Amino acid sequence: MQVWKDYQEKNKDRFLNELLELLRIPSVSAKAEHKPDMIACAEAVKQRLVEAGVDKAEIHETAGHPVVYAEKMIDPAKPTVLVYGHYDVQPAEPLELWKSGPFDPTIIDGKIFARGSCDDKGQMYMHVKALEMLIQTNTLENNIKFCIEGEEEVGSPNLGKFVSANKELLKADCVLISDSAMISLETPSLDIGLRGLSYIEVEVTGPNRDLHSGVYGGAVANPITILAQMIASLHDANHHITIPGFYADVLESSDEERKLMAEAPFNEAEYKADLGIVELWGEKGYSTNERTGIRPTLELNGIWGGYTGEGAKTVLPSKAFAKISARLVPNQNSKKIADLLINHFHTIAPPYVTIKATLHHGGEPYLTPIDSKAYQAASKAMETTFGKIPIPVRGGGSIPICSLFEKELGVKVVLMGFGLDSDNLHSPNEKFDLANFYKGIETIPYFHKYFTTP
Ligand SMILES: [Zn+2]
Repeated sequence: MQVWKDYQEKNKDRFLNELLELLRIPSVSAKAEHKPDMIACAEAVKQRLVEAGVDKAEIHETAGHPVVYAEKMIDPAKPTVLVYGHYDVQPAEPLELWKSGPFDPTIIDGKIFARGSCDDKGQMYMHVKALEMLIQTNTLENNIKFCIEGEEEVGSPNLGKFVSANKELLKADCVLISDSAMISLETPSLDIGLRGLSYIEVEVTGPNRDLHSGVYGGAVANPITILAQMIASLHDANHHITIPGFYADVLESSDEERKLMAEAPFNEAEYKADLGIVELWGEKGYSTNERTGIRPTLELNGIWGGYTGEGAKTVLPSKAFAKISARLVPNQNSKKIADLLINHFHTIAPPYVTIKATLHHGGEPYLTPIDSKAYQAASKAMETTFGKIPIPVRGGGSIPICSLFEKELGVKVVLMGFGLDSDNLHSPNEKFDLANFYKGIETIPYFHKYFTTP
C-alpha cells in the first residue's frame, strides 16, 4: 500500500533513532546488577507503545522482571492479534571480542551492531512502528495487543504464571512473534517448528578438598578427567546421542517433509567460511539443515573446574562442573529428557566420584500447521513485500513460550522472523541489517490486513 510506503519513507530515520535509543539500555536479564536497567527498559518500551498510539499500556510486575502489556482495540468483534516479544538481552560477554560497544549501537555497512539489535529489541520494535504506521495512516482494521516480557533470555520463568493469570487480558485469535530468522532477504522463510530445550548442570565431586597434584596425583581420581570421560561418552562415532531412550519419542519427519526442507538453499562452503571451520560435524544420515531442524541434539554449554587463573597451579581439584543442554524436537518432553539426562549421569558415574545434577530450565518443542489462518496470513504478507512465497522451515532454536501460548490461550503462534542466522545472536557483534528492520516494518501491516481479511 502506497500510504504505508510513504509513511515509512518519511519516518525511517526516526524509527531507527528510536530503536538505537532502546539498544543503549543494557537490559541484561541474567544479571542482578542490571535490575534498574530492566525497569528503565520496560518503561521505555511502554512509553514507545503509548507514542505509537495504543489506548492502554501497563507494566505488570512479576516475581522477576516486569512484563509490558499494551493494546489498541478498535472493535471487539474484529480479529485480535497478540504480538509477543522480549526487551531483555543476553549478557554481552566476552566484551573484548566486540568491535564496538555492545550497548553503544553502531551502524557499519548498513547493519546495526549492538546486543539485542536482532534478538529481540530490533524485531520487537518493528511491531511497534508497524502499529504506529497503521494508526497514523488510518488503515488499522483489527485489534492488536502487545505482551513484551523481560525474561526470555533466562527461560521465561514467570511468563507462564502471568499468562495463565491474565487469559482474558491476552485473549486473541493468534500470537505473532518476530524473534527468529529467515533464510535471506532474497529467500524469505517462515519457521513452522521450533526445538524445545532441557538444560541441566552437573557437579562432580571427588576428594573432599583440593589436593596437591604431586602428593595425591595418581592415587585419587581427578573429577575433571572423570567428567570429561562421561561427557565424551554421550556421543558415539556417528555423533548419535548414546543416552538410552533419548530418541524414543522423536516424531520422525516424513520423506516428503525432508524433500521440501531440502529445497531451502544451503551453501555449505559459505556456511563453513562464515563460521571459520574446515569440516561440518553432525549426526550421520542427516543434512545440516536437518541436524539443526528436525533432530534433537546435546551440547556442552560450559565446563569448568580446578585452577583457571594466570600461571600454573598444581592442583588436583575437588570438583568439576558442566552445563549441558539438549535441543528437543516435536513429541519429546523437556522434563522427561531432563530426568533422563540426570539419571544417566548417576548411572555412568564411576565410584570415584559423586554426582549432583540439577535442572535449570526447559521448554517444549512447537509446530505450526501450514494450513492455519495465521500461517497463511504471514505467508501472503511476505509474498506481497518480498515478491516470493516464503519457504516453511523448522528452526533450530527454542521459544518455549509458543507451547505456553497455545496451551493457555488456545491459539496458534506464527513465527515471522526477519533476522538472519548470521546475526550473531547471543554472540559478540550481534547485528541486525537495516534492510531487514525496514522490511519487517513494511511486511507486518500486511499480516494484520490478511489475517483480518484473508
Ligand atoms: Zn529472542
